[in-house]
Amino acid sequence: NMRDQEMKLLNKDGRLLYTAVSTSIMPEDDPHKLRVVCVANDITQRKQFEIELQAAKTAAEAAAKVKSDFLASMSHEIRTPLNAVIGMTSLLLDTQLTAEQEDYVTTARGSSNGLLAIINDILDFSKIDSGMLELEDQPFILRECVEESVGLLAAQASAKNIHLNAYSDPHVPTILLGDVTRLRQILVNLLSNAVKFTARGEINLWVGSQELPEGVQLHFMVKDTGIGIPQNRIDGLFEPFRQVDSSITRKFGGTGLGLAICKHLVNLMAGDIWVTSQPNEGSSFHFTIKTNPLISANSGTTGSRPAF
Ligand code: ADP
Repeated sequence: NMRDQEMKLLNKDGRLLYTAVSTSIMPEDDPHKLRVVCVANDITQRKQFEIELQAAKTAAEAAAKVKSDFLASMSHEIRTPLNAVIGMTSLLLDTQLTAEQEDYVTTARGSSNGLLAIINDILDFSKIDSGMLELEDQPFILRECVEESVGLLAAQASAKNIHLNAYSDPHVPTILLGDVTRLRQILVNLLSNAVKFTARGEINLWVGSQELPEGVQLHFMVKDTGIGIPQNRIDGLFEPFRQVDSSITRKFGGTGLGLAICKHLVNLMAGDIWVTSQPNEGSSFHFTIKTNPLISANSGTTGSRPAF
């Protein structure tokens, strides 16, 4: 038996056919003769379908590229004047203003910052969506990353009278290889959700680690005592534009992109993200990432206590 081959053949009325031809060679009684049997199957339809599919795929890829190029340049064009608005309103706030004027300018600056955050989310999401986001692989100090993330939310938390703490297991590596900016982005996202959806109580960030044959797996948990998430809403939570219900946008703002971005980033870091929650009691967001430690022993931890 010989293997199958694709061949273009002309049929009787001169039409081009795509065929799959299988050839068998059979011995004859006369050892100087061979019998060759060819069977040609008409696969023209399948072939045409494949060609159309390929063309559609190429067109879709080109359209996706145009879309992400457009978004990238648009968001740059939008961010530049927006940064000027934020800068100028900040300067304006430093001048002599009446209470009423100060109120107006503060609102304008708050809205500009909110708009900037949304634009950043959309840009990030489209970058990740089109596979154009590349992660860095640089050494960083894990504790600094955690402290910076907590620090960014400290003012907001204390304004709501919420305690914000970070803990780490004693054996968590000190220096790791990876993308510290993106790790901080995930942490800040989860922490700011926790602050946003918690009215009283505390928020705890915990870091643990586990040695793997090929490196180390870090496990982060952000636990809050907030409004929680109904069980039937948990499944779609990490999909883009998902919010628990439409009243959330009205009450808390947001685009529903944050967790989708976190999930993409965590997956790029070879990890998982999930949540356990009890309505009215709180939520615990967990994620893991795989990295390589540069220095594995944790030599003295400031601000960290043993794991709970
Ligand atoms: P956004 O916060 O911009 O709406 P996210 O993707 O970060 O988008 O979150 C999606 C939704 O998940 C939120 O709108 C909220 O309904 C729910 N959620 C996220 N984090 C929490 C939390 N810590 N507690 C309660 N609900 C949460």
